[in-house]
Amino acid sequence: METIYTVEWMKQVARQARVEARLVGLVPTMGALHEGHLSLVRAAQKQCSPVVVSIFVNPAQFGPKEDLEKYPRQLEADREVLEKLGVDYLFAPTVAEMYPHGFRTYVSVEGMSSVLEGRSRPGHFRGVTTVVLKLFEIVQPHFAYFGRKDAQQARILRQMTADLNLDTEAVVCPIVREPDGLALSSRNAYLNPDERRAATVLHRALRAAEKKIAAGERDTLHLLAAMRKLLDAEPLASVDYVEIVDADTLEPVTR
Ligand code: AMP
Repeated sequence: METIYTVEWMKQVARQARVEARLVGLVPTMGALHEGHLSLVRAAQKQCSPVVVSIFVNPAQFGPKEDLEKYPRQLEADREVLEKLGVDYLFAPTVAEMYPHGFRTYVSVEGMSSVLEGRSRPGHFRGVTTVVLKLFEIVQPHFAYFGRKDAQQARILRQMTADLNLDTEAVVCPIVREPDGLALSSRNAYLNPDERRAATVLHRALRAAEKKIAAGERDTLHLLAAMRKLLDAEPLASVDYVEIVDADTLEPVTR
């Protein structure tokens, strides 16, 4: 595996792969890799060669009060994991490479970026779409792989690729969970043992709603109330939002 630190070199390698008519796959990440990320890498390897994994903690998607400084960074360990998996290129640019002095162009998917997660984290999705578009331009991948864990992000990126006629197809892969249902996440490392136990309430609430739907419940007010009840019973949880939305428009539905 070759580790690439500069945009210019990554572009050159990607251009060469395109000239050789190879199928380029990209897995964008912020590192601190876990099985969720690795499932995306394996999906990419099934379809593409070469596979490029990017590791970049993107300042543009962090709010001023968010965890940019303390976000886990472990490039050496990540590099070893990717090497073992047989990844072709690790693209690990610096912030100055991606956002040089004077940078001032952002891309934003209107509307969809300001609901749900976007309401709690203003500017977050603008940062995501900007960095992903930059990565697409640099790596020119035929396919790029994203997790359904970030369902709104996947929907927004699909909108961006359609609206801007991009040559990259976004592939959305299933969520990888711990045995107790908690979705794997680099940020789970922040949780102490009590919080780690409490975090399973997210999955339990989703399962409760799923069970009610399977039993015939269709009224979203009832489903939301059932989820709220479980979440409110967990003192360590403070809820930003619980919503049931149309998967395509991200607008709330009543049934
Ligand atoms: P991150 O490093 O958190 O920005 O995530 C990079 C990519 O991995 C995103 O497309 C995420 O949706 C995906 N991802 C993160 N956690 C999981 C998981 N538990 N299962 C599947 N995909 C995941």
